[in-house]
Amino acid sequence: MRTQVAIIGAGPAGLLLSHLLHLNGIESIVLESRSQAEIEATIRAGVLEQGTMDILSNAGVGARMQAEGALHHGIELAFGGQRHRIDLTELTGKAITVYPQHEVIKDLVAARLAAQGQLLFEVSGVELHGVDTAAPSVGFIHRGEAGRIEADFVIGCDGYHGVTRPAMPGEGRQDFKRDYGFGWFGVLVESAPSSEELIYARHERGFALVSTRTPTVQRLYFQCDPADHVDNWSDDRIWAELHARLENNDGWRVNEGRIFQKNIIGMRSFVSTPMQSGRLFLAGDAAHIVPPTGAKGMNLAVSDVALLAQGLEQFYRQGSDERLQGYTTAALKRVWRAEYFSWWMTSLLHTFADATPFQREVQRAELECVVSSRAMATALAESYVGAF
Ligand SMILES: Cc1cc2nc3c(=O)[nH]c(=O)nc-3n(C[C@H](O)[C@H](O)[C@H](O)COP(=O)(O)OP(=O)(O)OC[C@H]3O[C@@H](n4cnc5c(N)ncnc54)[C@H](O)[C@@H]3O)c2cc1C
Repeated sequence: MRTQVAIIGAGPAGLLLSHLLHLNGIESIVLESRSQAEIEATIRAGVLEQGTMDILSNAGVGARMQAEGALHHGIELAFGGQRHRIDLTELTGKAITVYPQHEVIKDLVAARLAAQGQLLFEVSGVELHGVDTAAPSVGFIHRGEAGRIEADFVIGCDGYHGVTRPAMPGEGRQDFKRDYGFGWFGVLVESAPSSEELIYARHERGFALVSTRTPTVQRLYFQCDPADHVDNWSDDRIWAELHARLENNDGWRVNEGRIFQKNIIGMRSFVSTPMQSGRLFLAGDAAHIVPPTGAKGMNLAVSDVALLAQGLEQFYRQGSDERLQGYTTAALKRVWRAEYFSWWMTSLLHTFADATPFQREVQRAELECVVSSRAMATALAESYVGAF
């Protein structure tokens, strides 16, 4: 098989890149290890910045998102028994939209298939060859048969555990990493949203987050031991923990309902540089991870591939690789801002096992400053809506 751009991974990064290239008349083939049903059912992110909305809408895949996404003009910070609203729109003129990542995936898959895009599901054994030459290739197995794609470029959009980052030449590489030592226990609940806006709660027992996915499904999280197991948590124990962490003085309570999914994710920050080598480029979680406290992961995946699409368009239309050469520098500028914000939100709102009494009091004082100082609230709001 021959194509211009071979893309590994059909997450938001890989699918959107393939679609943006198609709109510019550039051919691509996407290889995905999971089935279509699986990628369309994996519940993950949900917060879209305005910039992400604009990119998806301009690419012609925003109709359902515009119709069904919920526009949020603020978030709440809860601590000390009180809830405090950060008015994102008043402070920044912008808002965020809650529209589940798997719905974005469905929209992108539908657009690729409608355009007869080449999207191969359930491939295995993906191997990269010759990425430091002008003629890279990708070997893989599909439906029991070995295949090979000859391409001009290979783009790694295969997430944190993928095969493309390990295939990057080791020389000159630098990885930056922070493990927080805690995770998030996430539940999906069949019930009406408890709150119109997201609530980020700090409590002595640990962090909790009240989020929504649809008018009938809530996404709730609480800080946990990353080595814990979902089987250790009965529904009653989960509700008791959530009520304890979300207790407040105004009588508000989180809505209970049938819990139909439980999972635990570890919190980490990670950046691998450079995001390119020869004809191999990385985008999204393949190159960087943020803890979800700042709601930046999917937004970064989208902004990375928007840059790559521009670079590839310049390469094929004008014969210049100037933008592609500048990809790592351009992408990392935004990545590190998001890394900083996600680390700061995580540090502000979680309990740390090794925190001294002094550090706990400083953390509480910082939260009070954020909700009482317009300047600090504005700084949070600007980063949250992605105004950087
Ligand atoms: C619980 C949770 C909550 C989150 N909340 C938010 C949020 O609120 N807002 C936000 O912006 N982000 C959030 N994120 C992060 C967001 O989901 C990710 O950043 C986003 O999915 C990254 O997209 P991606 O396309 O780079 O990678 P992925 O979505 O990971 O896609 C990679 C794809 O590559 C495929 N793949 C992997 N290896 C191979 C291989 N060898 N061959 C072929 N295919 C392969 C995988 O199956 C997958 O489909 C959250 C993440 C989690 C886990």
